[in-house]
Amino acid sequence: MLRILINALRTGVVTTRYPAEPSVPPDRFRGAPVLRPGSRLPLPAVCPTGALTERFDAGARRVALDLARCVFCGRCAEDPWAGAVAMGRDFELAARRRDDMRIQVVAGDPAVPAVEPVVGPTADPIAEAERASSEIHRVLGRSLHLRHLDAGSCNACDWELYALLNPVYDVRRLGIDFVASPRHADGVVVTGPVTRNLETAVRRTVEAIPEPRVVIAVGACAASGGIVGEGYVSAGGVERVLPVDVYIPGCPPRPEAILFGILVALGRLDARRPPREG
Ligand code: SF4
Repeated sequence: MLRILINALRTGVVTTRYPAEPSVPPDRFRGAPVLRPGSRLPLPAVCPTGALTERFDAGARRVALDLARCVFCGRCAEDPWAGAVAMGRDFELAARRRDDMRIQVVAGDPAVPAVEPVVGPTADPIAEAERASSEIHRVLGRSLHLRHLDAGSCNACDWELYALLNPVYDVRRLGIDFVASPRHADGVVVTGPVTRNLETAVRRTVEAIPEPRVVIAVGACAASGGIVGEGYVSAGGVERVLPVDVYIPGCPPRPEAILFGILVALGRLDARRPPREG
């Protein structure tokens, strides 16, 4: 017993101070790609998930990056595009709207305005998202119980999610916990692209949670279908089955990225807003 106490004292506090203090990811961490405006940007064919698209408009080539689809593989940042694309180190990428995850860059002509957000259908969804967020913050802001739903994931996102409960991240210090029943929960975190077999289960689980509730899509598969996409086995993302409050990109997102997304859902931190340029 004495030895355990001495070891504990020697180890000290291992819990991160994030989000009260910034968190620096390890050297090998790879965040989202950053496209350099005006450079020779990669062709969409290089991307295995369809995160890169292009269109030609008024003589300019516009390349769009969909962060929800990106798996941060780094292929678009390899030669010959190494100068045009760099892998960033930002992990605070969660967004409330799917459109906020699309970044559009004009390639090859520095004279044309550089970065443009892809404009959403109307301004109303923003107001609606903010109204819902303030209601969620009022009711759930200081204490949030989440039910985790694995809707066909490869388990990578699940491991990162479980890491939130270990002594390093310890989400309970922020009033956040995970529960076994949707009837005890204030919201769900969904991982995986939602397989067709699980569509009904996902819908019924969320419907069992009293309102107001939050739905958080964790990882590229849940946010957009990711590398799995949409097909006869996969719905292609949570939003195809249910309205989503917060999207957390990554494959998988690191634990701080998930924590950031949960705090965005609660209105305790601000979500990312386009455009974001390197
Ligand atoms: S890093 Fe993202 S955008 Fe680039 S090739 Fe990989 S999945 Fe596509």
